[in-house]
Amino acid sequence: MNIQDNLAAINGRILQACQRADRDPNEVRLVAVSKTKPAAMIEEAAAVGQHLFGESYAQEFSAKFDQLGTAVDWHFIGGLQTNKVKYLRGKVSLIHSVDRLSLAREINRQWAKVDQVANILIQLNLGAEASKSGAGEAELEQLLRQVAELPNLHIRGLMALPPYLDDPEEVRPYFRQLRQLSEAMKARQIPGIELQELSMGMSHDFEVAIEEGATLVRVGSAIFGTRS
Ligand SMILES: *Cc1c(COP(=O)(O)O)cnc(C)c1O
Repeated sequence: MNIQDNLAAINGRILQACQRADRDPNEVRLVAVSKTKPAAMIEEAAAVGQHLFGESYAQEFSAKFDQLGTAVDWHFIGGLQTNKVKYLRGKVSLIHSVDRLSLAREINRQWAKVDQVANILIQLNLGAEASKSGAGEAELEQLLRQVAELPNLHIRGLMALPPYLDDPEEVRPYFRQLRQLSEAMKARQIPGIELQELSMGMSHDFEVAIEEGATLVRVGSAIFGTRS
């Protein structure tokens, strides 16, 4: 397991997927998902040019931030309880996983304390899977309108965590659905929001996600190895 080689391979595959889809590679950012992995591995990846990392657990993130600080750029991608938002305040440049108004309100409240604006994505539960978090499609527009009113919070796009399916081609319809939802919501011209980011695709399906319009791919095990 060599982080440098893995990163080079993933970046190569990102480029190829962009070429296939006739997309500008600068539109696609790799979020290296470092959850459960030690800070030393993040430093190793940073030393070979990976700048953006994704974490899923608030306290684990907080410990790593104490070690590495702003030497790298942090995104929070995991399910978030409102009482854990304080661990992220002012430290992450994007929260991918906002799925309810109460959570958005708490993020707004915490970021107001440091007089900053939090960048967030709204997470959708596309498969309507009972086990997964994410807002339902039917409630999306209302949620966007309500969250858009919060002054210390800025909506940047949408995120989804589709079902795990062995064949990435079977996930394609979910990615396409997220992009279409994003376009439908853009057409509503809701004041105060931007929907330029689409966070979708993980280790086993990020190339299909890029072909369908992903701007942020969240890749963990293919870079850092499997998690125990
Ligand atoms: C863990 C995680 C990933 C990365 O998954 P891999 O299969 O290891 O690439 C991506 N997104 C979210 C939300 C995650 O929790």
